[in-house]
Amino acid sequence: MEISYKLKSKSDRRSEPFKPTSTLSFGQLRTDHMFLLNYEDSKWQNARIVPYSDIPVSPGAIAIHYGQALFEGAKAFMHEDGEIYSFRIDKNAKRLNVSAEILCMPQLDEELQIKAIHALIDVDRLWFPLQEGASLYIRPFMFATEDSLGVHPSSKYIFAVILSPSGPYYPAGFTKPIKLLITKKFHRAVSGGTGAAKAAGNYAASLRAGEFAKKFGASQVLYLDSENKYIEEAGAMNHFHIEKDGTVVIPEFTDTILRSITSESILELQNVLGLKVVQRRVLLDEFVEKIKSGEIIEAGGFGTAAVISPVGEYIFEDGSSITVGDGKVGKYTKKIYEYYTGIQNGKIKAPDGWLKKVERINKD
Ligand SMILES: *Cc1c(COP(=O)(O)O)cnc(C)c1O
Repeated sequence: MEISYKLKSKSDRRSEPFKPTSTLSFGQLRTDHMFLLNYEDSKWQNARIVPYSDIPVSPGAIAIHYGQALFEGAKAFMHEDGEIYSFRIDKNAKRLNVSAEILCMPQLDEELQIKAIHALIDVDRLWFPLQEGASLYIRPFMFATEDSLGVHPSSKYIFAVILSPSGPYYPAGFTKPIKLLITKKFHRAVSGGTGAAKAAGNYAASLRAGEFAKKFGASQVLYLDSENKYIEEAGAMNHFHIEKDGTVVIPEFTDTILRSITSESILELQNVLGLKVVQRRVLLDEFVEKIKSGEIIEAGGFGTAAVISPVGEYIFEDGSSITVGDGKVGKYTKKIYEYYTGIQNGKIKAPDGWLKKVERINKD
């Protein structure tokens, strides 16, 4: 499918490389353009890059009433050669289709998704922030637009991509571990539900738990399975812990856990990292005991935004808490973080296919 371009006039769009004078926060800025694609009459059509603006939707749009909406999150990086490279974007394109399947939304050709994302980055490449540790955050999303108050899968959708120039996630360095609340009060997903989809509704459902966690001084909830036996994930990131011998343990992907591309990548990197990375179900009781006995020395979350969020402390609803190791960022966590960001930034050789160069196609 060809993409049509209706760009902002040259005087209205960025004309110089973006050199932010202060550290950019995550996800706040937008670039000049967005990508749009419509699904109607059982097919995707009208692929276009247009100025970033509001998108008109019907007040009866199914996405608004019944939450048929999903999204993805990826990043692109600038290397020393001045070119921009998307990171594992094919994995995001694939996962979008997994989410679409779960939410009864149409499949979208993965090559077309990548082509759209790269074309948009190309048009707005001057927006890449020239700042240490910066990235271009990529947000593809799909939502149901049919005007219908009856509950059924929509017959119309919009797929869109927007970009956000973002600064380093850890501007002050990789120093401050977060706290997670372990609670039996909230659950993110149940078997047979939508936990394995990057569904907008999963995030709506997580807000109350997030607010609850903040009352305890924690930044998020560590979700347990619906029987409060196993550790699942943290709502916007997968969970991991590291044992004394350097073994990294990630809870097995079930249909209640989102398959983090960061987790999958760490699994694939275990040989070059020189760490054993395993997936298995993790019993909460065993996890707590092993932290107390010092067998578990590091823990945290994996996700695109932060790559790794080290956890220094777990808090319980009764106000008690346990500290992981010495409560600071551990050596294995640091090693993984440095290796992973080294690959993304082009300083360490990436496995084949992980980084895709954004070609210069827009001559306008
Ligand atoms: C996006 C997301 C993650 C992290 O996945 P990455 O692909 O590593 O960014 C983890 N858990 C949930 C629920 C998510 O939505």
